[in-house]
Amino acid sequence: MTEHATQETFDIAFPGRYWHRLEDGRLQCDVCPRLCKLREGQRGLCFVRARQGDGVVLTTYGRSSGFCVDPIEKKPLNHFLPGTPVLSFGTAGCNLTCKFCQNWDISKSREVDTLCDTATPEMIAQAAVATDSRSVAFTYNDPVIFLEYAVDAAKACHAQGVKTVAVTAGYICEEARAELFRHMDAANVDLKGFTEAFYQQLCSGHLQPVLDTLTYLKHETDVWFEITTLLIPGENDSEAELEASTRWVVENLGPDVPMHFSAFHPDWKMTDVPPTPPATLTRARRIALENGVRYAYTGNVHDQEGDATICHNCGQVVIGRDWYELTEWNLTGDGRCRNCAAQCAGVFDGPPGTWGRRRRPVRLASPHAA
Ligand code: SF4
Repeated sequence: MTEHATQETFDIAFPGRYWHRLEDGRLQCDVCPRLCKLREGQRGLCFVRARQGDGVVLTTYGRSSGFCVDPIEKKPLNHFLPGTPVLSFGTAGCNLTCKFCQNWDISKSREVDTLCDTATPEMIAQAAVATDSRSVAFTYNDPVIFLEYAVDAAKACHAQGVKTVAVTAGYICEEARAELFRHMDAANVDLKGFTEAFYQQLCSGHLQPVLDTLTYLKHETDVWFEITTLLIPGENDSEAELEASTRWVVENLGPDVPMHFSAFHPDWKMTDVPPTPPATLTRARRIALENGVRYAYTGNVHDQEGDATICHNCGQVVIGRDWYELTEWNLTGDGRCRNCAAQCAGVFDGPPGTWGRRRRPVRLASPHAA
Protein backbone atom coordinates (compact mmCIF):
# COMPACT_ATOMS: atom_id res chain seq x y z
CA MET A 1 0.00 0.00 0.00
CA THR A 2 1.55 3.28 -1.04
CA GLU A 3 -1.50 5.49 -1.14
CA HIS A 4 -2.19 7.84 1.73
CA ALA A 5 -3.88 6.21 4.68
CA THR A 6 -7.40 7.10 5.62
CA GLN A 7 -8.74 7.61 9.14
CA GLU A 8 -9.76 3.94 9.29
CA THR A 9 -6.16 2.81 9.06
CA PHE A 10 -5.27 4.52 12.34
CA ASP A 11 -6.83 1.68 14.25
CA ILE A 12 -4.68 -0.91 12.53
CA ALA A 13 -0.99 -1.26 11.99
CA PHE A 14 0.23 0.15 8.69
CA PRO A 15 1.90 -2.34 6.32
CA GLY A 16 5.64 -1.76 6.38
CA ARG A 17 7.91 -1.88 3.37
CA TYR A 18 11.46 -3.31 3.22
CA TRP A 19 11.47 -6.69 4.91
CA HIS A 20 11.88 -10.27 3.81
CA ARG A 21 11.36 -13.77 5.14
CA LEU A 22 14.34 -15.76 6.39
CA GLU A 23 14.70 -19.51 5.99
CA ASP A 24 14.01 -20.08 9.68
CA GLY A 25 10.64 -18.33 9.37
CA ARG A 26 11.61 -15.06 10.99
CA LEU A 27 11.00 -11.80 9.12
CA GLN A 28 13.98 -9.48 8.70
CA CYS A 29 13.31 -5.75 8.65
CA ASP A 30 15.51 -4.14 6.00
CA VAL A 31 14.81 -0.49 6.80
CA CYS A 32 17.96 0.15 8.81
CA PRO A 33 21.30 -1.61 9.28
CA ARG A 34 20.12 -3.24 12.49
CA LEU A 35 18.26 -5.76 10.32
CA CYS A 36 16.03 -6.89 13.18
CA LYS A 37 14.85 -10.47 12.81
CA LEU A 38 11.36 -10.83 14.13
CA ARG A 39 9.19 -13.69 15.30
CA GLU A 40 5.43 -13.32 15.62
CA GLY A 41 4.54 -10.47 17.98
CA GLN A 42 8.11 -9.17 18.33
CA ARG A 43 9.03 -5.53 17.90
CA GLY A 44 12.29 -4.25 16.43
CA LEU A 45 14.83 -2.27 18.43
CA CYS A 46 13.11 0.94 17.33
CA PHE A 47 9.98 -0.42 19.05
CA VAL A 48 7.64 1.05 16.42
CA ARG A 49 8.08 -1.57 13.71
CA ALA A 50 6.74 -4.98 14.61
CA ARG A 51 5.92 -8.33 13.16
CA GLN A 52 2.23 -8.90 12.80
CA GLY A 53 1.34 -12.21 11.21
CA ASP A 54 3.02 -12.48 7.86
CA GLY A 55 4.34 -8.97 7.64
CA VAL A 56 6.20 -6.17 9.34
CA VAL A 57 4.04 -3.21 10.27
CA LEU A 58 4.55 0.38 11.34
CA THR A 59 2.61 1.03 14.54
CA THR A 60 2.95 4.82 14.60
CA TYR A 61 1.47 5.71 11.22
CA GLY A 62 -0.67 8.83 11.59
CA ARG A 63 0.27 9.47 15.21
CA SER A 64 2.56 12.19 16.41
CA SER A 65 4.27 13.31 19.59
CA GLY A 66 3.19 16.85 18.77
CA PHE A 67 3.46 19.65 16.24
CA CYS A 68 5.27 22.94 16.55
CA VAL A 69 6.13 25.78 14.20
CA ASP A 70 9.87 26.45 14.57
CA PRO A 71 12.45 28.60 12.81
CA ILE A 72 14.15 26.56 10.06
CA GLU A 73 17.46 27.54 11.72
CA LYS A 74 16.50 25.34 14.66
CA LYS A 75 16.68 22.09 12.64
CA PRO A 76 19.48 23.34 12.11
CA LEU A 77 19.42 24.45 8.48
CA ASN A 78 21.14 27.77 7.84
CA HIS A 79 21.10 27.65 4.03
CA PHE A 80 17.56 26.46 3.29
CA LEU A 81 14.96 29.23 2.95
CA PRO A 82 16.50 31.24 5.83
CA GLY A 83 14.17 32.94 8.27
CA THR A 84 11.13 30.83 7.34
CA PRO A 85 8.84 28.86 9.66
CA VAL A 86 8.84 25.07 9.52
CA LEU A 87 6.06 22.87 10.86
CA SER A 88 7.91 20.25 12.88
CA PHE A 89 6.73 16.92 14.16
CA GLY A 90 7.90 13.49 15.22
CA THR A 91 6.51 10.21 16.43
CA ALA A 92 8.04 7.84 18.99
CA GLY A 93 11.01 5.49 19.10
CA CYS A 94 14.48 5.48 17.53
CA ASN A 95 16.80 3.01 15.80
CA LEU A 96 19.91 4.15 17.67
CA THR A 97 20.45 3.99 21.41
CA CYS A 98 22.59 7.09 21.99
CA LYS A 99 23.52 7.40 25.63
CA PHE A 100 23.69 11.17 25.19
CA CYS A 101 20.23 11.46 23.62
CA GLN A 102 18.86 15.00 23.92
CA ASN A 103 15.31 13.94 22.99
CA TRP A 104 14.99 10.79 25.06
CA ASP A 105 11.43 11.41 26.23
CA ILE A 106 10.31 10.88 22.63
CA SER A 107 12.95 8.62 21.17
CA LYS A 108 12.99 6.17 24.07
CA SER A 109 9.25 6.16 24.42
CA ARG A 110 7.64 2.76 24.52
CA GLU A 111 4.26 4.22 25.28
CA VAL A 112 1.81 5.55 22.79
CA ASP A 113 0.76 8.15 25.36
CA THR A 114 3.51 10.39 23.99
CA LEU A 115 1.64 10.25 20.70
CA CYS A 116 -0.90 12.89 21.49
CA ASP A 117 -1.83 14.17 18.05
CA THR A 118 -3.42 12.14 15.30
CA ALA A 119 -2.95 13.44 11.79
CA THR A 120 -3.38 12.17 8.27
CA PRO A 121 -0.72 13.23 5.77
CA GLU A 122 -3.28 15.65 4.30
CA MET A 123 -3.95 17.20 7.72
CA ILE A 124 -0.23 17.81 8.15
CA ALA A 125 0.01 19.49 4.76
CA GLN A 126 -3.05 21.61 5.50
CA ALA A 127 -1.63 22.61 8.88
CA ALA A 128 1.57 23.72 7.17
CA VAL A 129 -0.42 25.88 4.77
CA ALA A 130 -2.60 27.27 7.58
CA THR A 131 0.47 28.25 9.63
CA ASP A 132 2.29 29.75 6.60
CA SER A 133 5.08 27.22 7.04
CA ARG A 134 7.27 26.92 3.96
CA SER A 135 8.25 23.40 4.92
CA VAL A 136 7.41 20.46 7.14
CA ALA A 137 10.20 18.80 9.12
CA PHE A 138 10.24 15.17 10.16
CA THR A 139 12.19 15.61 13.34
CA TYR A 140 12.27 15.11 17.14
CA ASN A 141 12.82 11.44 16.33
CA ASP A 142 14.19 9.86 13.17
CA PRO A 143 11.90 9.60 10.10
CA VAL A 144 13.87 6.51 9.06
CA ILE A 145 11.74 4.42 11.43
CA PHE A 146 8.42 5.95 10.31
CA LEU A 147 9.37 6.03 6.65
CA GLU A 148 5.96 5.10 5.23
CA TYR A 149 4.25 7.88 7.20
CA ALA A 150 6.97 10.43 6.37
CA VAL A 151 6.82 9.60 2.66
CA ASP A 152 3.02 9.89 2.51
CA ALA A 153 3.14 13.16 4.46
CA ALA A 154 5.85 14.45 2.11
CA LYS A 155 3.72 13.63 -0.94
CA ALA A 156 0.76 15.48 0.58
CA CYS A 157 3.00 18.47 1.36
CA HIS A 158 4.39 18.61 -2.15
CA ALA A 159 0.84 18.55 -3.53
CA GLN A 160 0.26 21.77 -1.54
CA GLY A 161 3.59 23.38 -2.52
CA VAL A 162 5.11 22.80 0.93
CA LYS A 163 8.71 21.61 1.06
CA THR A 164 9.97 18.74 3.21
CA VAL A 165 12.89 18.33 5.61
CA ALA A 166 14.30 15.17 7.23
CA VAL A 167 16.26 15.51 10.44
CA THR A 168 18.00 12.18 10.68
CA ALA A 169 20.97 10.18 11.85
CA GLY A 170 21.21 8.73 8.34
CA TYR A 171 21.23 5.18 9.69
CA ILE A 172 19.30 3.52 6.91
CA CYS A 173 19.67 0.78 4.30
CA GLU A 174 20.16 1.46 0.63
CA GLU A 175 16.69 0.85 -0.80
CA ALA A 176 14.85 2.56 2.04
CA ARG A 177 17.30 5.46 1.79
CA ALA A 178 16.49 5.99 -1.87
CA GLU A 179 12.76 6.09 -1.16
CA LEU A 180 12.94 8.38 1.86
CA PHE A 181 15.17 10.99 0.25
CA ARG A 182 13.33 10.92 -3.07
CA HIS A 183 10.60 12.79 -1.21
CA MET A 184 12.79 15.23 0.75
CA ASP A 185 13.92 18.69 -0.29
CA ALA A 186 16.39 19.14 2.55
CA ALA A 187 17.97 17.22 5.39
CA ASN A 188 20.06 17.71 8.44
CA VAL A 189 22.15 14.61 9.04
CA ASP A 190 23.82 13.88 12.35
CA LEU A 191 27.42 12.82 12.07
CA LYS A 192 27.58 11.82 15.71
CA GLY A 193 31.26 11.10 15.82
CA PHE A 194 33.98 10.05 13.45
CA THR A 195 35.14 6.76 14.90
CA GLU A 196 33.59 3.33 14.73
CA ALA A 197 34.22 3.01 18.49
CA PHE A 198 32.04 6.05 19.20
CA TYR A 199 29.14 4.68 17.18
CA GLN A 200 29.49 1.21 18.68
CA GLN A 201 29.98 2.17 22.31
CA LEU A 202 27.66 5.16 22.64
CA CYS A 203 24.99 4.52 19.96
CA SER A 204 25.17 0.74 19.38
CA GLY A 205 25.50 1.46 15.66
CA HIS A 206 28.17 1.78 13.00
CA LEU A 207 29.81 4.76 11.32
CA GLN A 208 29.99 3.54 7.70
CA PRO A 209 26.24 3.51 6.92
CA VAL A 210 26.07 7.18 7.97
CA LEU A 211 28.99 8.07 5.70
CA ASP A 212 27.25 6.13 2.92
CA THR A 213 24.10 8.23 3.41
CA LEU A 214 26.09 11.48 3.27
CA THR A 215 27.89 10.37 0.11
CA TYR A 216 24.60 9.24 -1.43
CA LEU A 217 22.91 12.56 -0.69
CA LYS A 218 25.76 14.52 -2.24
CA HIS A 219 26.31 12.49 -5.36
CA GLU A 220 22.96 10.92 -6.18
CA THR A 221 20.30 13.41 -5.08
CA ASP A 222 19.45 17.10 -5.23
CA VAL A 223 18.57 17.17 -1.53
CA TRP A 224 20.08 20.18 0.21
CA PHE A 225 21.74 18.92 3.37
CA GLU A 226 23.76 20.14 6.32
CA ILE A 227 25.64 18.13 8.95
CA THR A 228 25.41 18.38 12.72
CA THR A 229 27.85 17.01 15.27
CA LEU A 230 27.00 17.23 18.95
CA LEU A 231 30.38 17.63 20.62
CA ILE A 232 30.64 15.65 23.85
CA PRO A 233 33.61 16.44 26.09
CA GLY A 234 36.15 13.63 26.04
CA GLU A 235 34.15 11.49 23.59
CA ASN A 236 34.25 12.99 20.09
CA ASP A 237 35.89 16.40 20.48
CA SER A 238 39.59 15.62 20.05
CA GLU A 239 41.67 17.63 17.61
CA ALA A 240 42.48 14.46 15.67
CA GLU A 241 38.85 13.42 15.29
CA LEU A 242 37.73 16.87 14.18
CA GLU A 243 40.62 17.08 11.72
CA ALA A 244 39.61 13.71 10.29
CA SER A 245 35.88 14.41 10.05
CA THR A 246 36.19 17.83 8.48
CA ARG A 247 38.79 16.61 5.98
CA TRP A 248 36.53 13.70 5.08
CA VAL A 249 33.64 16.09 4.47
CA VAL A 250 35.64 18.33 2.15
CA GLU A 251 37.23 15.43 0.26
CA ASN A 252 34.02 13.44 -0.15
CA LEU A 253 31.24 16.00 -0.12
CA GLY A 254 33.03 19.18 -1.20
CA PRO A 255 33.42 22.52 0.57
CA ASP A 256 29.78 23.65 0.35
CA VAL A 257 28.15 21.28 2.85
CA PRO A 258 27.63 23.30 6.05
CA MET A 259 28.77 21.79 9.34
CA HIS A 260 27.19 22.62 12.70
CA PHE A 261 29.05 21.90 15.93
CA SER A 262 26.59 22.00 18.77
CA ALA A 263 26.85 21.94 22.53
CA PHE A 264 26.01 18.86 24.58
CA HIS A 265 23.96 19.21 27.76
CA PRO A 266 24.08 16.37 30.29
CA ASP A 267 21.04 14.18 29.67
CA TRP A 268 19.65 10.65 29.55
CA LYS A 269 22.45 8.21 30.45
CA MET A 270 25.27 10.76 30.31
CA THR A 271 24.55 13.02 33.24
CA ASP A 272 28.11 12.66 34.57
CA VAL A 273 29.68 14.45 31.60
CA PRO A 274 29.91 18.26 31.77
CA PRO A 275 28.34 20.54 29.15
CA THR A 276 30.49 21.38 26.14
CA PRO A 277 32.60 24.50 26.77
CA PRO A 278 31.94 27.18 24.12
CA ALA A 279 35.71 27.19 23.38
CA THR A 280 35.42 23.59 22.14
CA LEU A 281 32.77 24.61 19.61
CA THR A 282 34.86 27.55 18.46
CA ARG A 283 37.89 25.27 18.06
CA ALA A 284 35.88 22.79 16.01
CA ARG A 285 34.59 25.57 13.78
CA ARG A 286 38.14 26.87 13.28
CA ILE A 287 39.42 23.41 12.33
CA ALA A 288 36.60 22.98 9.82
CA LEU A 289 37.27 26.36 8.22
CA GLU A 290 41.01 25.68 8.07
CA ASN A 291 40.34 22.36 6.33
CA GLY A 292 38.24 24.01 3.65
CA VAL A 293 34.65 23.77 4.93
CA ARG A 294 33.15 27.05 3.72
CA TYR A 295 30.25 27.23 6.16
CA ALA A 296 30.93 26.10 9.72
CA TYR A 297 28.73 27.03 12.68
CA THR A 298 28.54 26.70 16.42
CA GLY A 299 25.20 25.69 17.91
CA ASN A 300 23.25 25.67 21.18
CA VAL A 301 25.24 28.69 22.42
CA HIS A 302 25.11 32.44 21.96
CA ASP A 303 27.91 33.15 19.49
CA GLN A 304 27.20 35.70 16.78
CA GLU A 305 30.50 35.00 15.04
CA GLY A 306 29.84 31.26 15.02
CA ASP A 307 26.24 31.85 13.86
CA ALA A 308 27.16 34.03 10.87
CA THR A 309 27.35 32.93 7.24
CA ILE A 310 30.46 34.36 5.63
CA CYS A 311 30.89 34.81 1.88
CA HIS A 312 33.54 32.28 0.85
CA ASN A 313 34.88 34.66 -1.78
CA CYS A 314 35.14 38.10 -0.14
CA GLY A 315 34.75 37.34 3.58
CA GLN A 316 31.71 39.58 4.06
CA VAL A 317 29.00 38.51 6.51
CA VAL A 318 26.12 37.59 4.19
CA ILE A 319 23.72 36.31 6.86
CA GLY A 320 24.02 37.48 10.46
CA ARG A 321 22.19 35.56 13.20
CA ASP A 322 21.57 35.82 16.88
CA TRP A 323 20.63 32.32 17.95
CA TYR A 324 17.77 31.49 15.50
CA GLU A 325 17.00 35.06 14.51
CA LEU A 326 18.37 36.75 11.38
CA THR A 327 20.11 40.03 12.17
CA GLU A 328 21.79 40.82 8.85
CA TRP A 329 21.09 39.96 5.21
CA ASN A 330 23.51 40.75 2.41
CA LEU A 331 22.38 38.32 -0.28
CA THR A 332 20.37 38.76 -3.44
CA GLY A 333 17.11 36.85 -3.76
CA ASP A 334 18.90 33.96 -5.44
CA GLY A 335 21.65 33.80 -2.83
CA ARG A 336 24.53 35.81 -4.31
CA CYS A 337 26.76 38.00 -2.16
CA ARG A 338 25.74 41.66 -2.50
CA ASN A 339 29.39 42.66 -2.19
CA CYS A 340 31.09 40.40 -4.73
CA ALA A 341 28.26 38.42 -6.43
CA ALA A 342 29.71 35.03 -5.43
CA GLN A 343 27.02 32.38 -5.00
CA CYS A 344 26.31 31.25 -1.46
CA ALA A 345 25.50 27.53 -1.44
CA GLY A 346 21.96 26.63 -0.45
CA VAL A 347 18.32 27.10 -1.36
CA PHE A 348 17.26 30.74 -1.53
CA ASP A 349 13.99 32.13 -2.75
CA GLY A 350 13.69 35.89 -2.63
CA PRO A 351 13.96 37.91 0.56
CA PRO A 352 14.49 36.05 3.85
CA GLY A 353 11.59 35.01 6.04
CA THR A 354 10.68 36.99 9.13
CA TRP A 355 9.67 34.19 11.49
CA GLY A 356 12.41 35.06 13.98
CA ARG A 357 13.05 32.81 16.98
CA ARG A 358 9.42 32.03 17.81
CA ARG A 359 8.28 28.53 18.67
CA ARG A 360 4.56 27.95 18.40
CA PRO A 361 2.94 24.63 19.41
CA VAL A 362 0.12 23.57 17.10
CA ARG A 363 -2.67 21.15 17.94
CA LEU A 364 -4.16 19.21 15.06
CA ALA A 365 -7.73 18.50 16.07
CA SER A 366 -8.99 15.09 15.12
CA PRO A 367 -11.85 12.86 16.15
CA HIS A 368 -9.24 10.20 16.84
CA ALA A 369 -6.99 12.41 18.95
CA ALA A 370 -6.12 11.13 22.39
S1 SF4 B 1 13.82 0.10 11.47
FE1 SF4 B 1 13.44 -0.71 13.52
S2 SF4 B 1 12.73 -2.83 13.19
FE2 SF4 B 1 13.68 -2.13 11.28
S3 SF4 B 1 15.81 -2.86 11.41
FE3 SF4 B 1 15.77 -0.75 12.17
S4 SF4 B 1 15.49 -0.92 14.40
FE4 SF4 B 1 14.96 -2.91 13.50
